[in-house]
Amino acid sequence: MIGRAQKCRYCPAMIVWLKTPLGRSMPVDAETVGYGDWVYSPARGHRSHWATCQNPPRRRKR
Ligand SMILES: [Zn+2]
Repeated sequence: MIGRAQKCRYCPAMIVWLKTPLGRSMPVDAETVGYGDWVYSPARGHRSHWATCQNPPRRRKR
């Protein structure tokens, strides 16, 4: 667990916000993020939290 980790808004999991190469913020499972990681990279083992979130927000119809 690293200091930047915070609790997911939607479930008890700990996440870290990383930047994607496109400059967007991405919630990543904290256990897959290392100290020096700032950019989301599946090749480094990062796992998007949206893939594992236990209670993700539902999409609303507009
Ligand atoms: Zn979650």
